[in-house]
Amino acid sequence: MNGSDAAPSEERRLLCAQIEQCYDQLPIALAANISIGLVLVVLFSGNIQTAVLLGWFAFLALVLFARLRVLQAFRAARRRDDFNQDAWRRPFALGAFGAGLAWGLAGLALFDPDSFPHQVLLAFVLGGMMAGAIPLLSGVRHAFALFAIPVATGSIARVLLAGDEIHLTMALTMAIFTLAMFAVSVQVRRVFREAEHLRRRLAAAIEGSQVLEELIRRDSLTGIPNRRMFEEELHKEWRRAGRESLPLSIISADIDHFKKYNDCYGHQAGDRCLTRIAQAMQQALSRPGDIVARIGGEEFAFLLPGTTAEGARSVAEQVRSHINQLQLPHETSPVAPMVTVSMGIASSDDATVSSPSELLHASDIALYEAKRRGRDQFVVAGECVVRPARTQS
Ligand code: GH3
Ligand code: MG
Ligand code: MG
Repeated sequence: MNGSDAAPSEERRLLCAQIEQCYDQLPIALAANISIGLVLVVLFSGNIQTAVLLGWFAFLALVLFARLRVLQAFRAARRRDDFNQDAWRRPFALGAFGAGLAWGLAGLALFDPDSFPHQVLLAFVLGGMMAGAIPLLSGVRHAFALFAIPVATGSIARVLLAGDEIHLTMALTMAIFTLAMFAVSVQVRRVFREAEHLRRRLAAAIEGSQVLEELIRRDSLTGIPNRRMFEEELHKEWRRAGRESLPLSIISADIDHFKKYNDCYGHQAGDRCLTRIAQAMQQALSRPGDIVARIGGEEFAFLLPGTTAEGARSVAEQVRSHINQLQLPHETSPVAPMVTVSMGIASSDDATVSSPSELLHASDIALYEAKRRGRDQFVVAGECVVRPARTQS
């Protein structure tokens, strides 16, 4: 075992990302290749034998067609579950080699010994092809070398064959240019890998912080939102209610005689009871924007955007009904033989309420009033006691 054992999977992921990116750029490269090939055919039609010119172009077109088919197969494979990017490295590199052969052949076959301007044009096009291939081919190992070596070999060999001093200089320049392109390709590959590595780390960090953010907004026992999330949402909804002139209601809820429940059934049973009550409360909500949070030990709060006190009253009835259906025995409760809750409702309709904290406070006062009046009921802030008849099921 060596120190780099942890690296290969990350290394492999980087390689795979590079391969995918190379394939994604391939359509542009194929279009550029065929267009430049056509331009050469037109420009060299008066200088090079038609059969040679068309033969070369046919070879180029064949290579590009083969690469297009590989690209199509790659795209089809990418949609499948068992897609393995690694397997597509070799076909890509072979495609690059095929293109290198075609352009190397251009260096040999399209060299017109009698027209120096055409020679310069050809060298210019081949140099441009090589430079342009760097971003596309540097991502896959050896692909740039497989392309550039045949291109450089074909064109430099043909220039050297001309034998005079100017062509020797030209060949030397082309060789230096090729070496420079190799060096740039290595740099591009390294920069790409670093950028991809950083991108991945950033994405993982963002994902991690989102998970953390979600965790710190949830109650660990019941899984429902906690006080932090409740208060954040309350402030958000309060502002929205003000902007859009909509009502906003809150219900504070508290389990009755829960200390007695713990004393009678034990703390773990108490925890299970809290979880079931939380679930029942959530099930009592029907609107997507409604939230119920555990804001304290056995205390909960409902946030009901766009809901009047009247609407909140019917939610409270739903909550009572859902908790009632649970029929959780509570034999030491002086209120009922099962677990019950008391609730206090406050709404932004109430003219005395002018801030989120005042709204919460008003619902707490109403809850206190419900407790004072005998529990297992709800009270609307500023109104008289409401005690719906208990249904024994
Ligand atoms: P009241 O009807 O006036 O609300 O009476 P109560 O007994 O429910 O209220 P009190 O505030 O006296 O007691 C609350 C109890 O809730 C005490 C505590 O043991 C229990 N409790 C708070 N958090 C948890 C918890 O996370 N798990 C369990 N099992 N019990 C908890
Ligand atoms: Mg209580
Ligand atoms: Mg309490």
